Amino acid sequence: MRQIAIVGSGPAGFYTAEAALKQWSDDVRVDIFDCLPVPYGLIRSGVAPDHQSIKGVSRRYEKTSLNDNVRFIGNVLIGKDITIGELQELYDAVILATGAPNDRTIGLPGEDSDNAYGSAAFVGWYNGHPDFADLDPDLSHDTAVVIGNGNVALDVARILAKTRDEFGGSDIVTHALDILDTSKINRIVVLGRRGPHQIAMTPKELGELGHLHLASPHVDPADLPDQSEDESLEPGQRKSVTHLRNFSALTDADREGKSIKLEFDFFASPKAIIGKGKVEAVEVERTRLENNRAVGTGETYTIPAGMVVACIGYQTSPIPGVPFDEDAGKFKNDEGRVDTGLYCVGWARRGPSGTIGTNRPDGFGIIEKVDQDIDAGGGKKGYDGFDVLARERELNCVEFHHWQEIDKAEVARAREGAPREKFVVVEDMIEAARRN
Ligand code: NAP
Repeated sequence: MRQIAIVGSGPAGFYTAEAALKQWSDDVRVDIFDCLPVPYGLIRSGVAPDHQSIKGVSRRYEKTSLNDNVRFIGNVLIGKDITIGELQELYDAVILATGAPNDRTIGLPGEDSDNAYGSAAFVGWYNGHPDFADLDPDLSHDTAVVIGNGNVALDVARILAKTRDEFGGSDIVTHALDILDTSKINRIVVLGRRGPHQIAMTPKELGELGHLHLASPHVDPADLPDQSEDESLEPGQRKSVTHLRNFSALTDADREGKSIKLEFDFFASPKAIIGKGKVEAVEVERTRLENNRAVGTGETYTIPAGMVVACIGYQTSPIPGVPFDEDAGKFKNDEGRVDTGLYCVGWARRGPSGTIGTNRPDGFGIIEKVDQDIDAGGGKKGYDGFDVLARERELNCVEFHHWQEIDKAEVARAREGAPREKFVVVEDMIEAARRN
């Protein structure tokens, strides 16, 4: 019997578990650990609350969890409650699927100002992640600057632009909905240091900006390359750029009744966040492209703004005892191999790129490597050994049936029309888990 520990219960963790079951069927035991008492990682706290259809993939992960050979063990922080070395003693393979939950720092003067956030914090706030539930952003000013031209920047800009009604059917947490509802923001500037052809926004997500109740996207036609140059783009990117072209052609009549300006500022690199302790403006340098890189032109200007959200990518949390590549913000690895019996997968392996589905081949790929590296297993204690340690240390572990209780309680307390109202405090999750 092979004993496999997967650390992290997001998409990478669950696809890896699925692959392990496929590879070894009944000859494997898979324990999936998570530091939170709730599973699904980025599906729960990263995917935008108004993108419920994407969150539907968790039903597939639930099926994996309900397999007799799989166990979810939540509320255990690997590296603190139990070390990586201890886990390696207990399992034939330890696979780190911890994602990239931390913000990459942008390194701007004023970055630490009040009301300047990274996207992990801001997205975590509106998605009810316990670490960020208390963020309490101030939206009482008229302008927000969103840095970055990826899908997360789109998510943040769209969430800031939506009305209360537009969150119908979403699982945005009520603390965020109530603050967004009182927002005075009527200008959202999305800064891209390169141009329209270099955006990392996918067409479906970009197209949504054209259908908001109160917000209208603005693109300066002068920023768009000659249309003939779109031919060189791959089809998805061409569709995204077509959306930008359509936005640039919107007329005042098209924008009738739209009081929120969602402005794409291309060739615009942030230089400093200005303010006395709190964001008051962003200093920006105009750029031009040289060999596809943004190069400053020396021309600067200032955008008065009360909030900044930097959506420039994420990094993995280091774990004591696991070699870490500080520059790349992920574990040091050779195609997923970290050390004997230690592996990483998903964003913890390759950095924060790709879609949820990209993690499926990644999970299957890592299990192939584990299969090459370990024999039939045997001798390792797996869960029984973990259970001894957990009792000795009085760990308050949460299993999948506990999560099902939390799930039921969240669904039961949902506001009208919402699929659930998430618990945002770990103790409240645990209380709900133990209730029955
Ligand atoms: P991303 O796609 O890597 O985009 C990061 C953006 O930040 C890029 O535009 C980058 O510009 C910019 N940037 C980086 N450093 C910067 C700096 N110092 N100053 C100014 N701009 C800077 O990252 P993401 O948006 O966080 O998304 C992460 C992953 O999750 C992506 O694969 C994304 O597609 C995925 N995701 C998907 C969805 C969805 O499908 N609905 C939703 C959210 C996220 P350069 O290109 O110039 O480096």
